[in-house]
Amino acid sequence: MPSPRSTISQGALVWLLLVLLGCGFLTTSLVSYYAARETIRSNIVNTELPLTSDNVYSEIQKDLVRPVLISSMMARDTFVRDWVMAGEQDVEQMTRYLREVQAHYGAVTSFFVSERTRTYYQTQGVLKQVKPDEPRDAWYFRVREMQAPYEINVDVDLANQDRLTVFINYQVFDYQQRFIGATGVGLTVDAVIELIDDYQTRYGRSVYFVDGSGRIVLTGASGGPLGAGVGQALSEVDGLEELLAKLPRPRDGNFEYHEHGRTHFLNVRFIPELNWYLYVDKHENGAVAGIRQSLYLNLLICLLVTAIVLSLVSLALRRYQARIGALATTDALTELPNRRGFDLLANQAIQEARRNQGPLCALLLDLDHFKQLNDSHGHLAGDEVLRGFARRLGDNLRQADIICRWGGEEFILLLKDTTPEQARQLGEKIRQQVEQSRFSYAGSELRITASIGLAELQAGDALDQLIARADRALYRAKQTGRNRLCEETA
Ligand code: GH3
Ligand code: MG
Ligand code: MG
Repeated sequence: MPSPRSTISQGALVWLLLVLLGCGFLTTSLVSYYAARETIRSNIVNTELPLTSDNVYSEIQKDLVRPVLISSMMARDTFVRDWVMAGEQDVEQMTRYLREVQAHYGAVTSFFVSERTRTYYQTQGVLKQVKPDEPRDAWYFRVREMQAPYEINVDVDLANQDRLTVFINYQVFDYQQRFIGATGVGLTVDAVIELIDDYQTRYGRSVYFVDGSGRIVLTGASGGPLGAGVGQALSEVDGLEELLAKLPRPRDGNFEYHEHGRTHFLNVRFIPELNWYLYVDKHENGAVAGIRQSLYLNLLICLLVTAIVLSLVSLALRRYQARIGALATTDALTELPNRRGFDLLANQAIQEARRNQGPLCALLLDLDHFKQLNDSHGHLAGDEVLRGFARRLGDNLRQADIICRWGGEEFILLLKDTTPEQARQLGEKIRQQVEQSRFSYAGSELRITASIGLAELQAGDALDQLIARADRALYRAKQTGRNRLCEETA
């Protein structure tokens, strides 16, 4: 039976293992999770987002550089200037010119607005008159006043089913540098939108352009951040509060913010040609979901391994302790309980007998002239006789009786609920059996006799007193000729 001390230390060992394994597994799992997450984050911030931004930027530049050149050429065209200065006589001449430009350069539209007559000419003829109080014509009055020679403006095209179009609005001057109108071409931004859509759907990024006041001016077909559309201010988009707190006005840089519990990384870049900011945004969750799953799987495996290791260790410990316990209380030669094992059982039996006020007897047995047997047949023969004797002794007992190899060639039996008379009968039976037994060893038949001392537990007896009386009885048996049973009465 394991002692309380060993049980405590076993528990402590299992706990220590649990803590060590748990900490070890947890640390390695978390370290590799955070390392992988950090790699993903730095990849998003340092590679993915800037690369997307570069690609979108170069695409938009490609789309814009050519129309700017065409518009600049139109603004310097002597035909345009001469025709205006000659009083805009033949509308067909201008519309033919615009048609030519449009067809030749693959533009969606081309236009000229005259400052003197405020007439808007396009490829089909006169579209309308521009008016200062008409919001759709605001662009013209802005172009008129600006310092730069041209602007790029994304607007809906009146002449083209209101499609979102990039207009290059170029100022036109006469030969004395007097402002005489605005000209240019319009192009759809389909290619850019297609590219943005590609990035948005394929790579889970949000790509959009924002003007200086924080209004979305261009994005993919499916909308910009959180589905927000063109014309919407970022401040109106639910979920971007943290971003706006960090970035109240657009400016270049890398930013990190949270939206409804998701971590976002954002790259902002100023596009000087458009006077816009390009926002490329990606939320981390999608990218990290994979490694988070493998973290959970890792932890689950670690938990299983820990549980298996701990149960194996505690099983092995328990078995080992049970074996040690058995060894400590069992005699190796006869496999009977030794004194230590006996003490535990005997004290229990005595308490029981006292409680039940039942009889309890002890038989102390000692083999006669055993030294002579050893001397004449050898120690191994003696061992064999001891084993055989122990076996026969055990055969005579009930389950409840307690047997013990008391020492050397002495044995003790504790008989529960047994009167002295019954004990004497059993003792006699054993004595006769031993006397008649033949123990064979190395071809010879060995014989032995036993002397037995019997004592009954008296009221107030401790185990020692009971045994002392049995010992005295045994002494008398030896003294009176051996191979007999003597009783010690109170
Ligand atoms: P008595 O009749 O007075 O009991 O004589 P005895 O020779 O049996 O008594 P004694 O106590 O003088 O000798 C006991 C002997 O038992 C001495 C010892 O060597 C032997 N013995 C004790 N343990 C073992 C054992 O495990 N194996 C063997 N072979 N002999 C043992
Ligand atoms: Mg002896
Ligand atoms: Mg003896």
